Amino acid sequence: MGAVMCGIIGYLGKNNALPVLLDGLRRLEYRGYDSAGVAIQNNGNVAAVKAVGKIKELENKIAGKNIAGKLGIAHTRWATHGKPSEANAHPHTDCAGEVWLVHNGIIENYQPLKKHLESRGHKFQSETDTEVLPHLIEDLYNGNLTETLQKVLKLLKGTYGLAAFHRAAPLIIRD
Ligand code: GLU
Repeated sequence: MGAVMCGIIGYLGKNNALPVLLDGLRRLEYRGYDSAGVAIQNNGNVAAVKAVGKIKELENKIAGKNIAGKLGIAHTRWATHGKPSEANAHPHTDCAGEVWLVHNGIIENYQPLKKHLESRGHKFQSETDTEVLPHLIEDLYNGNLTETLQKVLKLLKGTYGLAAFHRAAPLIIRD
C-alpha cells in the first residue's frame, strides 16, 4: 500500500490564523486530497468550516464569514476510513466541541476504541478512524491537553501526524 499522506497545519501567533492556514492548504494541494477543513479558536469559541473538493470550495464556503482568531488548525484529507464527505472531513471534535483535532494517517485499532467510547456514551458524527481521538481526549481530559494527549497516544496502534487544540486553552503568544 502506498503511503499517501495529505496535510496538516497549525497556527498560533499574532496574526489572524485563517489566511495563514488557507495559504498553507494551497501549498499542500500538490499532495492530492479529497476534502479540506479549518477550525479557528477565538475567545473560547470555535468556528469550523469543511468542504468536499478543492481548497477553492472551502474558500467559497468561508467567503463572507468573519472568522477571526489567532489559533487554528487545518487539514487536507485523503480518505482511508469513511467516504469523502463533509461529515468525514477534518477537523474532528468531541461530544462537547471542546477538543479540535486534525490527523494524517490511520488509527488501526479504532474499532475497539470506538466501541469502548460508545459504551461510555460518546456520540460519533463521522465514519472516520480519526474521530476516536477527540473523544478519547475528552474521556481522559485532566485539564492539560499535552498530558492527556500523551496518555491517548499510548492507546493507539497505527500512524499519525496530529494537531489539536482545546477551545478553552489560554493563548500564550510571545514577541
Ligand atoms: N484516516 C483518516 C481519515 O480517513 C486520515 C486520512 C488522512 O491522512 O488524510 O480521515
